[in-house]
Amino acid sequence: MKIETLAVHAGELRAQGAVTDPIVLSTTFAHPSGSLDVHGWTYGRTDNPNRAAFEGCLAALEGGEQCVAFASGMAAVSALLQTYAPGDHIIVERDCYYGLRVVLRETFERWGLECTFVDLADHSAVAAAVRPLTRLIWAETPTNPLLKVVDLAALAGIARAAGAMLACDNTFATPICQNPFDFGAEIVMHSATKFLSGHSDVLAGAIVLRGAGGIAERLRRVQRTMGAVPSPFECWLTMRGIKTLPLRVRAQSETAAAIAGFLVEHAAVERVHYPGLPGHPGHDVAVRQMRAFGGVLSFQVRGDAAAAIAVAERARLFTRATSLGGVHSLIEHRASVEPPDSTTPRNLLRLAIGLEHRDDLIEDLAAALHGA
Ligand SMILES: *Cc1c(COP(=O)(O)O)cnc(C)c1O
Repeated sequence: MKIETLAVHAGELRAQGAVTDPIVLSTTFAHPSGSLDVHGWTYGRTDNPNRAAFEGCLAALEGGEQCVAFASGMAAVSALLQTYAPGDHIIVERDCYYGLRVVLRETFERWGLECTFVDLADHSAVAAAVRPLTRLIWAETPTNPLLKVVDLAALAGIARAAGAMLACDNTFATPICQNPFDFGAEIVMHSATKFLSGHSDVLAGAIVLRGAGGIAERLRRVQRTMGAVPSPFECWLTMRGIKTLPLRVRAQSETAAAIAGFLVEHAAVERVHYPGLPGHPGHDVAVRQMRAFGGVLSFQVRGDAAAAIAVAERARLFTRATSLGGVHSLIEHRASVEPPDSTTPRNLLRLAIGLEHRDDLIEDLAAALHGA
């Protein structure tokens, strides 16, 4: 079935014939028999019908065998990292989501997980970083906030040769724009907080596994024993959001492309970062790898940090806030929210495109840029 159909139907419970799934709040479930051989639902941390529905839905959208849901995107990545042993080595995109960098440094370094940050667009540097115990290459494409695109098929080849797996944070692209499994990735991660739920009212995350092997079982075990699980209501809201995901992401991508085109021509703009622009360094890879270029872009204002902040302050329709993937368009000065060692250009603003009309958004940006 096509992705629009899967988005509406995959994973649905159809309990008691309900067209819209009921929310099952019970934390405990009657055993079907008195024996110790318990089948079906047992206890809320271990399993829940709404969680299973969300997992089944996202697995179908990505074309994976298994999906394991968590209370946030960071809980999902952290659970995955907990399936590795001290001494194991991972290679991580240098421009990765900064929360990942924080947990790697603050927690997993003490855990004994070895980690090398590499520019994954530099394939010889990636190959050179491989060690005997390299288990994972962690990609993010497009990256935040520079929208760097990396070649998943090439990285999957390096991972395979090293006996490692390629994982991809697919939060920005969503399964509408890109399916990393098509290019040889074994693991896909989502912050469902963003486009999947889509309305800035849910915190959730997930890891999708291409196969049902050892890593899926270890991850399921971490989920069930450590319990960083999303609530039934959050799973239900995410499922509701996913039903309109294809429509929303296509509209957001089209508006983002129109805004990128407007900004590229603007005299007060130094540089625009959007994979859909022919001048973007990752454009050719993006054309091969993505069906649309997504609803996030960033741009550098001519001048310093203060000039960029002033533009954000003059915006009226764009709300100054972090996050992305919701129906409201957001603008953010990234350097202000990232740690002091971040390499994000100081004059950079990130735009997360919502569902307002592109003409209104462009008018707002034109007014904000006036005088910059
Ligand atoms: C938001 C985000 C995360 C973290 O997800 P949370 O749900 O906030 O924990 C990870 N990766 C990317 C690309 C994100 O945008």
